[in-house]
Amino acid sequence: MTEEGKQAVAKARAILENYKGKKLRIMEVCGTHTHAIFKAGLRQLMPENVELISGPGCPVCVTPADFIDEAVWLATEKNAVITTFGDLVRVPGSEMSLAGARSEGADIVPVYTPIDAVEYAKTHPDREVVFLSVGFETTTPSACLAVQRAEKAGLKNFSILTANKTMDEAYRALKDSVDAYIYPGHVCAIVGTRLTEELTGEGISGVVAGFTPSELVTAAATLVELCSKSDEPFFRNCYPRVVTRDGSTAAKKLVEKYMEPADAVWRGLGIIPKSGMVLRDEYAAFDARKKFSVPSFKAKNPPGCRCGEILQGKCKPTDCPLFGKTCTPEHPVGACMVSQEGTCAAYYQYGGVV
Ligand code: SF4
Repeated sequence: MTEEGKQAVAKARAILENYKGKKLRIMEVCGTHTHAIFKAGLRQLMPENVELISGPGCPVCVTPADFIDEAVWLATEKNAVITTFGDLVRVPGSEMSLAGARSEGADIVPVYTPIDAVEYAKTHPDREVVFLSVGFETTTPSACLAVQRAEKAGLKNFSILTANKTMDEAYRALKDSVDAYIYPGHVCAIVGTRLTEELTGEGISGVVAGFTPSELVTAAATLVELCSKSDEPFFRNCYPRVVTRDGSTAAKKLVEKYMEPADAVWRGLGIIPKSGMVLRDEYAAFDARKKFSVPSFKAKNPPGCRCGEILQGKCKPTDCPLFGKTCTPEHPVGACMVSQEGTCAAYYQYGGVV
């Protein structure tokens, strides 16, 4: 780190150590930040009257159990090969997880990227291959790229089951529960900062943060300082080496071509209008829901699991009576313990720090 960088971190630490102002609730929205914050020891650095809460930014955690039921249905009733990121395999559905379906003979193939799923479809032309497309602005472009590749290759046996989401409506939905957000740097790198800047007009404050300890401590101090100075909503980009006002034009164009906004169900938050992304009608042949006329499911969440409240920042994992007892990363009861980005998994991994 440069001398200048060291001085900036020392100044940020001093701001946090000396803060004696009003009580603040700050939400780090994304799961990657939740883990990075634990790792950096930032929770221990925060002043007593500043509460850091975790938000709904883990893609696996906010994906409702209905989606797992849809995927299990495709695997068991339509004999489709389900290609998916590994984390989703263990998320409980209402009857079973995808791991459970696999133990009953379903073909569930973990992949690292949606392009891997296209390649799998190319080499298995006699099978229908469905990719489970979850995630936020960071992963949606790669799902669109997969559809583009499949389209160009003339594949008829590849489709995606979408549960893609956008963050801006979630910021709005939770705005009354928090004083300010730590916005996810990687999401802002794609969409740019215009949206989050505009949110100040709706009374929503926040700073964009990177993921290193020094970036996080600087962003937290900026946020605390701005909150204490005035009640006016604010926005700051504390990750300018990566995040620009316009974001990635190429990624946004690609998504715009293949997908459009739609209402989406978030675990714990219910339906948030226009917070999801689905394939446009022109690409219905690649939309598993339309291609296979997937029925709608209304899954129940596991009894006792408080994932929904945790995703809204209403309680902490350690408030859940199942935490660390019947629910562990080895035997997860709810989605927040399954995913590597999940809040419950982070609290478990880093010792249940409150
Ligand atoms: Fe759900 Fe387990 Fe988290 Fe409790 S500890 S809220 S059961 S994931």
